Amino acid sequence: MHVRPLGPGDAGDADLAAFLLSAWRKLHSASHRPPRCPRCDARGATCDGLDHSRLPQFHCHGCNRRFNRLTGTPMARLRPEDKLRAFFTLISLPASAAEVGRKLEIQPETVAHWSLQIRLWLLALDPEGSWESRVQLGVRYAVVPASVRDAPAKAAFGCRCTLVGSDSPSLSQADDGPLLMRVCPLCERAAHSA
Ligand SMILES: [Zn+2]
Ligand SMILES: [Zn+2]
Repeated sequence: MHVRPLGPGDAGDADLAAFLLSAWRKLHSASHRPPRCPRCDARGATCDGLDHSRLPQFHCHGCNRRFNRLTGTPMARLRPEDKLRAFFTLISLPASAAEVGRKLEIQPETVAHWSLQIRLWLLALDPEGSWESRVQLGVRYAVVPASVRDAPAKAAFGCRCTLVGSDSPSLSQADDGPLLMRVCPLCERAAHSA
């Protein structure tokens, strides 16, 4: 979990990058077949042609609002969009936001924001969290005092923070000292909006 400089051999997690790219392409589908409305969940939207970002735009007759396939997802309004593909290949690396920002010529704050939004998106796509757990970039770890090790407080609804190494049998023998907890994207978002 330690942040380290990117090396020339750091190719990242190709399966995670491919999963993200495939899901990203679905959001950018050219199909005019309307999905359910992301706001009111109504069916029966009609396609209005292309919007300013050249994506099919739909008109919901339930709430009378327009949307595209990105609307309401954590991936809406991430800019500049053309760097996201490269970002998908880096998100599995335990690199710093500053370093990835330099590499992609985007702000470190953008790196942190994208990382959080993509983790939220991965949780929405795969509620089990197995894809989200493969993200390293931008993930924060919190120290859990030994006194609350059995039941760390759930900071957000649906929290899935995990104790680092909680699947290893040696943990139960290490009775004292603080533990590290991987802060889940739900808690991360709650902390940002607080
Ligand atoms: Zn609607
Ligand atoms: Zn959490």
